[in-house]
Amino acid sequence: MKLDPNRPRATRLAPTPSGALHVGNARTFLLNWALARHEGWRVTLRLEDLDIGRVKDGAHATAIADLADLGLDWDGEVEVQSRDLMPYRAMLTRLAESGELFRCDRSRSEIRSAASAPHAEDGETRYPPELRPPEPWPRVIQAWEANHRLRVEPRDEHVFDELLGERTFNPGLEAGDLVVWTKLGVPAYQLAVVVDDARHGITDVVRGDDLLASAARQQLLARLLGLPHARWWHLPLVYGDDGKRLAKRHGAHSLRALFERGVKRERIAGWAAWSIGLVPERAPLSLDALVAATSPDALRAAISTRNSHSCVFGDGDLGWLCES
Ligand code: GLU
Repeated sequence: MKLDPNRPRATRLAPTPSGALHVGNARTFLLNWALARHEGWRVTLRLEDLDIGRVKDGAHATAIADLADLGLDWDGEVEVQSRDLMPYRAMLTRLAESGELFRCDRSRSEIRSAASAPHAEDGETRYPPELRPPEPWPRVIQAWEANHRLRVEPRDEHVFDELLGERTFNPGLEAGDLVVWTKLGVPAYQLAVVVDDARHGITDVVRGDDLLASAARQQLLARLLGLPHARWWHLPLVYGDDGKRLAKRHGAHSLRALFERGVKRERIAGWAAWSIGLVPERAPLSLDALVAATSPDALRAAISTRNSHSCVFGDGDLGWLCES
C-alpha cells in the first residue's frame, strides 16, 4: 500500500530499553530528532520492550531519562509496545488467514544444521524451506505461545532510501521464512515495527544502517498486511576504534556514564554533527543550531562525502567530550 503523500509527516524514536544507550545510539537519536524538528514532523517516542528477557526493571525510565538529558522531546504520550498486544495479535491472525503462516517448533541448532549455508555476508542462517511443515497450514492461530514463521520465497525487494538511494535485497534468500511471532507470546521485532509504524502514522523512519536489510523485510510484511510503509533514512553506524560496533564492552561510552562524568549535551550534539559531516569543526553545538544544520539536503551531502574514519568513536573523541 502506498504512503498517502498528504499524510502529516511523523517519525519515531524507538529505543530498546534493554541496556544503557551508548554514544552511537545518541548520535542516531539526535540526528533523527533534529531532522524531524527541522522539517516540522511529529515525533513519537516508542519503547520497544518486547524482548522480554532483556528488559530489566527500571529500563524504561532510564531510556526516557537518557533521551531527555540529551535535550530531546517528543509529542504526545510515550508508546510502550508491551502495554497492549492486541494490535499485533490481530495482524498475526491476518497472516494466518492468508495461509502463509506456519508454527515452527524447531530449535536454532536444528535449523542451523539443516541450512545449506549461512548467508555469506553476515553469517545469518537462512531457514531452509524443506523444514516447513506439510501444507495446508492452519488459517487460525492455535497457540499464541509458539514461534510462527511466514513463508518468504526468494525474490528481489527494492528499498528506496532517502539518503542512500536504491538498494536491492532478497529476504527469501538472506533469511528465508521470517519469524513473526515468538514462543514468549509476543511479536518478533519485524512484525512489531511494521504494525506500530502503521498505527502510529509514521511516515519517516530514521535509524542506523544496521537495519537497512530489515527495511526490505518490513516492506514485504507491510505489503502482505495491506499496510503502508514509511520512507527510509538509514544513517551510518558509529564503530569503536577496534572496528567493532559500539556495544556494552565499550562501557565508558554509555550515555549514562558520560553524563555522570559531567559531559555536556552541547558537546555530544557537536560531536554528532561533526562526525557525520554536517559541520566542519568539532565544537559544542546548541540543539537549536543542530536543528538548523540538519536539513535533508545537508544530511544527504554529508553522507555522500563522508570519509569512513568519521564514524569511529575513539579515545580522542571521548577526551574531547569530557573537556569542560
Ligand atoms: N528498537 C530498535 C533498536 O534499538 C530500533 C528499531 C527501528 O528503528 O526500527 O535497535
